[in-house]
Amino acid sequence: MSQARTAIVTGSTSGIGLGIARAFAAQGMNLMLNGFGAPADIEKERQAIIDEFHVKALYSPADMTKPQEITEMVMMAHAQLGSLDVLVNNAGIQFVAPIEEFPPEKWDQILAINLSAAFHAMRVAVPMMKAQKFGRIINIASAHALVASPFKSAYVAAKHGIAGLTKTVALEVAEAGITVNAICPGYVMTPLVQKQIPDTAKARGITEAQVVHDVLLEAQPTKRFVTVEEIGALAVFLAGPMAASITGALLSVDGGWTAH
Ligand code: NAD
Repeated sequence: MSQARTAIVTGSTSGIGLGIARAFAAQGMNLMLNGFGAPADIEKERQAIIDEFHVKALYSPADMTKPQEITEMVMMAHAQLGSLDVLVNNAGIQFVAPIEEFPPEKWDQILAINLSAAFHAMRVAVPMMKAQKFGRIINIASAHALVASPFKSAYVAAKHGIAGLTKTVALEVAEAGITVNAICPGYVMTPLVQKQIPDTAKARGITEAQVVHDVLLEAQPTKRFVTVEEIGALAVFLAGPMAASITGALLSVDGGWTAH
């Protein structure tokens, strides 16, 4: 098999994950959606994907901090979609505070969702992909997998961790028809970024408008936010047959941020 037909996208009720899910659906791929939110909103997004793209779109409410729920989600996707061709580990959260004020429970939660969840999903998905001699694993890392910013200790640690995890698993499955890559986006204006603006303003003692212009867009030489469509298009390419030799790569989509 060289054509991906089914995918799990974790954290696909919002932002980048939803953008990737919709990009996959546009290719005719059947999906397992996942993430939190108001049930009516999730159902609306799920139904919109079905109506617009005429694909299957299942939904799992699995909590990415709970290994058992992650296992069940992967097994359910495989059973109900008939295969598991693509796994996108995208769910993530952010918290911004100086190290001495960083709540230990936030550290644990960020490490669990942004890093350990990918381990738990991959360890169940890899045997399924090996059996079908095809698989694509795409971890949504960040520019913060490559460089740091102050006040984001847990996030930067988790994202650097996922970079190492991506490379390790890529080596392990390289001969099995499975690729493992990380996409490293710069700033995308999603709820995750919107929510951190007030805390960043507080931590740096500046206004929220200054955070957007002097912190977020300052990092990106293009001076514009990356779009979810740009991330979705790269995910589609990585899932496709022409990406068979791209593995163990950390692919920046960051408007030049990490070229500094
Ligand atoms: P978002 O807040 O819009 O979406 C996050 C998704 O994760 C939501 O669907 C949410 O329900 C889900 N989620 C959160 N906790 C969960 C849990 N415990 N179990 C299951 N699902 C959970 O954020 P986003 O910006 O779209 O972020 C998606 C990914 O992209 C994250 O890994 C983030 O670190 C990464 N990223 C974002 C940016 C950016 O600028 N927005 C930049 C680089 C990387």
